[in-house]
Amino acid sequence: MLVLVVNAGSSSLKYQLLDTESEIVWAVGLVERIGEATSAVTHRSRIRVGAGAPLEVHERTGAIADHAAAFDAVDALFAATGEVAEVGQLVGVGHRVVQGGDQFVEPTVVDPEVIEVVRSLNPLAPLHNPACVAGLESAMAAHPEVPHVAVFDTAFHATIPPAAYTYAIDQSVARAHRIRRYGFHGTSHKYVTAKAAEVLGKPVGEVDLVTLHLGNGASACAVRAGRSVETSMGLTPLEGLVMGTRSGDLDPAIAFHLITTAGMTAAEVDAMLNKRSGLVGLCGQNDLREVHRLAAAGDADAELALQVYVHRIRKYVGAYLAVLGRADAIVFTAGVGENDPEIRRRVVAGMEMAGIAIDTELNAATRGPSKPVDLSFRGAPIRVLVVPTNEELEIARQTAAAVR
Ligand code: ADP
Repeated sequence: MLVLVVNAGSSSLKYQLLDTESEIVWAVGLVERIGEATSAVTHRSRIRVGAGAPLEVHERTGAIADHAAAFDAVDALFAATGEVAEVGQLVGVGHRVVQGGDQFVEPTVVDPEVIEVVRSLNPLAPLHNPACVAGLESAMAAHPEVPHVAVFDTAFHATIPPAAYTYAIDQSVARAHRIRRYGFHGTSHKYVTAKAAEVLGKPVGEVDLVTLHLGNGASACAVRAGRSVETSMGLTPLEGLVMGTRSGDLDPAIAFHLITTAGMTAAEVDAMLNKRSGLVGLCGQNDLREVHRLAAAGDADAELALQVYVHRIRKYVGAYLAVLGRADAIVFTAGVGENDPEIRRRVVAGMEMAGIAIDTELNAATRGPSKPVDLSFRGAPIRVLVVPTNEELEIARQTAAAVR
């Protein structure tokens, strides 16, 4: 079933046209710098050339004012590189929506009422949800002929129990402002959970895992019996692991200290914690390839950045093993998890006492695998897996199921 998957950011639009059964990606693209004079679209398609052929690349530059104009530009590129109908009938458009609050725990067919509820969640995710709403509205205007389905980043974490989602603050304030842990990256944690179950040869409802989504954003998830029971991101994606530009966990008093003592405004602190912290704050680079390069060249800040990054992940692995009581596997995924043997090696180093040990040669050779790889030593009680994530395929599958 042919599905267009849309991921709208504040100034970007990512999309994929894919078939949920054959898993063929017919087109994939990115619109960047929406709202600026230097907008650019990179559209790669194999609609005209066929499934076996490499993607044809088409680029377009020039101002794109908003998400509606972005869809017009994308539709024009689809028309130029082959009509979608040539590869099948589009059954729906699947949208990645960051914040579903506690209202949306399943993929949801979108109508104007749903858009209003998603919009009402904007205060909970001011950096992300307004763009998702703009993406939904523009895509529905551009493609009214098919159903649109919202797939929420928070949905997989709807099974987290109160003990894990409740913040220990004044509960009248928490309830009034819907402050609790929601968790994000749920589509990815769910996808790799199902894949890990396949590798382990168990039904998904019987696997206990610690999944580590380490991309530019990063989060850990404790999975019991195939369901999320704890995750490191919280009310917003700022909490938890050290990320490319986000701090992850810190003493909340640091924010007040910066406001009262350092004279920063709340908005400045927010921007610093989200955009100028994490790896970039520690050493000036958010891409781990660059951080490694600097560290290898003797840059002490970069080496410390690696240590802080790894230390935080190890803390969460230990905590989640304690939460779960047992685990079948630790799962690495996303840009860093799939491509960075050095980070994986450091994360599990010295965990033999917990039954975790990897084949270091296989680990070193595993970079961007197309299929899951089991790095653990034979017989290690807790396996260590690298599982390539595929959020677009998961969104497409959930979209196809919702429209069926
Ligand atoms: P996003 O969160 O943007 O979806 P990805 O999951 O694609 O991110 O991860 C992007 C990050 O993955 C990069 O910022 C970089 O740190 C890391 N990365 C990608 N390729 C490699 C690699 N070969 N080695 C180390 N890190 C990598």
